Amino acid sequence: MNGQVNVTVGKKQAKPCKREILNPATNKIIAKVFDSSLQQVEEAVGKAKQAFEQSEWKKNKSLRIEVLKKLANLLENEANIFAETETLNTGKPIKEAQLDIEDTINCLRYYANLIEENQPWTKDMFDDTNSKIIQEPIGVCALIVPWNFPLLLGMWKLAPALAAGNTVVFKPSELTPLSFLKLASLCEKAGIPEGVFNLLTGDGEVGSALVEHKDVAKVSFTGGSETGKRIYQQCAKEMKRVSLELGGKSPLLIFEDSEIDIAVDWTIFGSFFNQGQVCVASSRILVDEAIYKPFLSALMEAVAAIKIGNPLREETEMGPVISTEHLNKIQDFIKLGQEEGANLLTGGTLIDCEGGNYIKPAVLVDVEQHMKVVQEEIFGPVITVQSFSSEEEAIVLANGTRFGLAAGILTNDLMKAERVAEHLQAGTIWINGYHTPHIETAWGGFKESGIGRELGPSGLAAFTETKHVNTNSKLARANWYQ
Ligand code: NAD
Repeated sequence: MNGQVNVTVGKKQAKPCKREILNPATNKIIAKVFDSSLQQVEEAVGKAKQAFEQSEWKKNKSLRIEVLKKLANLLENEANIFAETETLNTGKPIKEAQLDIEDTINCLRYYANLIEENQPWTKDMFDDTNSKIIQEPIGVCALIVPWNFPLLLGMWKLAPALAAGNTVVFKPSELTPLSFLKLASLCEKAGIPEGVFNLLTGDGEVGSALVEHKDVAKVSFTGGSETGKRIYQQCAKEMKRVSLELGGKSPLLIFEDSEIDIAVDWTIFGSFFNQGQVCVASSRILVDEAIYKPFLSALMEAVAAIKIGNPLREETEMGPVISTEHLNKIQDFIKLGQEEGANLLTGGTLIDCEGGNYIKPAVLVDVEQHMKVVQEEIFGPVITVQSFSSEEEAIVLANGTRFGLAAGILTNDLMKAERVAEHLQAGTIWINGYHTPHIETAWGGFKESGIGRELGPSGLAAFTETKHVNTNSKLARANWYQ
């Protein structure tokens, strides 16, 4: 694909906003995409509503299974093109983009198989009646995602929403619409009926109009916590169903008995994967004071060895961050940390490479729990390292932010790991590992990291209403007052 994607979508509008889509590795324009107008939001929701009410989609499970499996196969055939598109649009290393596409395909197949097995269930009740539990689709679902894993996070919503029989209006981030625009043509080929999948482009204004629309029955949002809170309030007005996958400031706890080399490996992977622009990034490293110094010196060596550069090269381990605006925000956080009294051990400087948004991964030490660099999500390649002197202190530090998305625990003592895990306020906890999403299990956050869970059976349940039909087949009389 030699570094070019040409896409222009949207209709000419009264005041068209043609957004330039940039390659973060060069800041050159790779596509121009019209923002959807408010009229197009109206049309998209209208089509989705009509399809929900009139098409066979919600009733025909076999059709849904067939379509999801076909979409997975079509995506698999074009996996390399999708991976390149994702790398060009997000700056993520190509190896990571390939993993994203693989996981996206697996997600589609997982939900196709899950509904194949999922049946309404019946149960005899204690009062001699019989109950049937049915999960029904909700209706028109608005799916809104951020820019860090455009296709993968989109599929975490799209696959279960469609599998459950809903119709959807999808909005990718204004910065990274290209992979979903490509996916739209595959959806047609896969045989998704007209109106079942609708795509809007544009920023928060388009997203907000979609959330606000009276015919949207469910909003599933992944993005920043502040945006999530606004959406939660909007949904409350009409009691719309809502799922929120929000920000994080996740700790990786490294205990004294950990192998230092292995601990450093997991730190690099957990903290700097996708340039640290990961909701579950291990942005706070908590290390037992007994190994703090040797860990830190091994970490410095490993950070210096990270191969930063053109993300299309196979050997690249870290690419550019998403935009110059985001780069400035990351640098401002590092400066703020220093003003707060933190010590920048390494990184934070810009790298001059083909005009891209490259920054060296930064490590801040001598930090205190109240500092903004410890409390706020930076969403870039910046970590803080703190030491602890006891298990109890490690838990207090780990839980000491408003977020609760994920955590990691490294120790050879599995009893200790499980004891600590019990006390951590986090939706996902990895013991002797980090940042391995499992499609089969729930993903989501405690506290301000969100509401609800994606993935696994709970990801499907989030796109359904549960109906309990209780039958008194013996025609027994009501005997309440007897
Ligand atoms: P963002 O909140 O700015 O935007 C996310 C999406 O929402 C975009 O499509 C955007 O156009 C849209 N949007 C913005 N304002 C809106 C509004 N008022 N109403 C409706 N839609 C609106 O987030 P971002 O900068 O794109 O992404 C980074 C954030 O996403 C980070 O906080 C990160 O932690 C979070 N995130 C969370 C998860 C998770 O699974 N919990 C995964 C990835 C990213």
